[in-house]
Amino acid sequence: MPAVPRTATISRLGAAVGAQGIFTDPADLEPYINDWRGIYRGGAAAVVRPATVEQVAAVVKICAETQTPVVPQGGNTGMCGATVPNAGDNPVVIAMGRMNRIRNVDPLNNTMTVEAGCVLANIQTAAAEAERLFPLSLGGEGSCQIGGNLSTNAGGVNVLRYGNTRDLVLGLEAVLPDGRIWNGLRSLRKDNTGYDLKHLFIGAEGTLGIITAAVLKLFPRPSSNATAWMAVPSPDAALQLFSLLRQQFGDRITAFELLSRACLQLVLKHIPGTRDPLADSHPWYVLTELGDGSPGDALRSELEGALERAMEKQLVLDAALAENKGQSKAFWHIRESIPEAARDEPGMLYRHDIAVAVGQIPAFIRDGQAALEQRFKDTRIICFGHLGDGNLHYNTYVEGRLRSDAAAREAHDVTTVIYDIVQRYQGSFSAEHGIGMAKVEELKRYKNPVEIDLMRMVKRALDPQGIMNPGKVL
Ligand code: FAD
Ligand code: ZN
Repeated sequence: MPAVPRTATISRLGAAVGAQGIFTDPADLEPYINDWRGIYRGGAAAVVRPATVEQVAAVVKICAETQTPVVPQGGNTGMCGATVPNAGDNPVVIAMGRMNRIRNVDPLNNTMTVEAGCVLANIQTAAAEAERLFPLSLGGEGSCQIGGNLSTNAGGVNVLRYGNTRDLVLGLEAVLPDGRIWNGLRSLRKDNTGYDLKHLFIGAEGTLGIITAAVLKLFPRPSSNATAWMAVPSPDAALQLFSLLRQQFGDRITAFELLSRACLQLVLKHIPGTRDPLADSHPWYVLTELGDGSPGDALRSELEGALERAMEKQLVLDAALAENKGQSKAFWHIRESIPEAARDEPGMLYRHDIAVAVGQIPAFIRDGQAALEQRFKDTRIICFGHLGDGNLHYNTYVEGRLRSDAAAREAHDVTTVIYDIVQRYQGSFSAEHGIGMAKVEELKRYKNPVEIDLMRMVKRALDPQGIMNPGKVL
């Protein structure tokens, strides 16, 4: 059992990071001990804000010597409570926001080297300034940090074309749980010199070490984009539409998102300034984005032609093609505001972030709905997500239940119904958001025991004292 940090430890930490790099006042700790969803609340002995990798190393070394638990934190936008410090451990939060330098942009190598505390949107902007694209994009991009994106292996809306965060990294720098610095900041596209260690830290949710910097891949910036908001009769039609567009446009489709009418209604209700892109209401919508290097309006015209053919086949009921960047942004704003709108709706929301094979999405939606309706009265499914990746945010309100401890306990029943179906489909019960503290039980229940055993072995090897983000993942 880790020792409780003493005053002496706090003053050693203060000496390591300077007075402006540490605080212990309860009011200052507040933003760091609550999660974005407003569900979890913890407590910490101190928040430390190191400005350099050497400072991170010094802090972790002190924590290792004093067996003080460490909770790494980025923008604190994660969905599974992985950043919330367990008050009982009296841990130290290491907040990475001061390590926010873009160390280098190399347009020839198509790479950039960034510190872990860089906000994702700033990385996108720096890439754009060098006429390159860093394609990771998600609703929280204005506040999440690349260290958090890496540690959750975030997905987002461009996975279809560019992959998850894991696929966008060439090199990594990390501080190990004993305080040593591992410099793996290589910019190489080929390097088969043994185990690829960076992948251990990516998606580890801060349980194996602290990521301090990364070499990211950049891509050519598409000079032309086209965005369409489409009404479709059903998820089956959406899937057929995906297949049709994929056939014609191939990798030029960067995003293909499905959302139900219930999602749009939530956004219209809670997010000021949003409006329905279409005149009539429809049961399902698809938002797609295309990008390539074609001149002028060629891509938009090609998409328009494809939509006309899809309408003849009745795969699309109505559509709005963005006429300019502003309109495209407005469509995306609707899609990206769903998590926030869902958070602001009163009632108890049960969130599921699942993946199945792309072709099984319509059947999964049907099976999920049937099972929930059979078991619970008055469920409202807030279903949206990355259809092109086979990943749905299959969230559910059970009407009449308010946020309470009892409801939280009942969440177990709702999620079990959904995850058992996921299991039948050989899918994933956490496609994007990770495990954190929210899904530790599910990991035990649904993950292959051999895989869990291997994970434990890795954890013990890297963090034998168990000080890195205890109580999360395993
Ligand atoms: P945090 O929440 O601070 O941390 C997340 C985890 O990483 C924690 O375990 C933490 O301990 C660890 N961590 C953070 N920094 C470090 C570091 N430097 N070293 C080691 N460990 C670290 N996710 C998706 O995948 N796809 C989406 O489309 C998506 N959409 C979202 C939309 C909204 C509106 C919001 C609020 C969130 C969304 N998310 C999405 C959740 C997503 O996981 C986060 O937004 C983001 O990737 C986390 O970054 P963060 O800096 O906020 O990390
Ligand atoms: Zn998502």
